[in-house]
Amino acid sequence: MAWRLAKSLVVLRDEINAVAPNRSKASDGTIGDEAHQGTASDLGHNPNANDVVCAADFTHDPGSGADMHAFAEHLRRRSHRAVKYIIWDRRIWSKARADEGWRHYGGSNPHTAHMHVSVGVGPDGQSTGPYDDTGPWGLTDEFGGGDVIGLQVGDKGDRVKGLQATLRYAGYDPGEVDGDYGPKTSAAVLKMRRAEGSEVDDGDNFTGWAYAQLMRAVAKKY
Ligand SMILES: [Zn+2]
Repeated sequence: MAWRLAKSLVVLRDEINAVAPNRSKASDGTIGDEAHQGTASDLGHNPNANDVVCAADFTHDPGSGADMHAFAEHLRRRSHRAVKYIIWDRRIWSKARADEGWRHYGGSNPHTAHMHVSVGVGPDGQSTGPYDDTGPWGLTDEFGGGDVIGLQVGDKGDRVKGLQATLRYAGYDPGEVDGDYGPKTSAAVLKMRRAEGSEVDDGDNFTGWAYAQLMRAVAKKY
């Protein structure tokens, strides 16, 4: 039987992957997988009557930026139109009981390796309602996924990799795409900015204007 993931959870997964592109997915899950043996039914990972799965798990991997402590709290505050409940670290928050905040969760799986998110309304496995709502969950705004504006020399990580890869696409070689904003990346930023008409004399700060110039350089190339 062909099933699919609720569209709201596809959007959420994309946002989490944008914030933490190299995150571990060891404890991710959607349906009937190892992470849910014995718990799938009571946590709503079974598809509804339309073969839509309205629950997903996201691995806690804070070293990569996938920090479920921060994400769970953000998602509670965000209260996305589609969200039904969130379980993380022995606590549960339900939209239907939102004013009670986080409550103790006593299920056999303490949910310390992954955060569980259910969407829609109604009983688990029979969700109806707005589970296909594709509105943003706000994670990339809050946690900066994909955002390269404001980077500077000395910064490290996936956002720098994104900048380096984009410089490459635009034809400005930053050396290895290693996530380290060092002299080669700075030189590539400077070269790109000068070619786009800027009079800056170093490439040590990636400002909003630098971003606009890089986008224009990519557009020209393609
Ligand atoms: Zn789950």
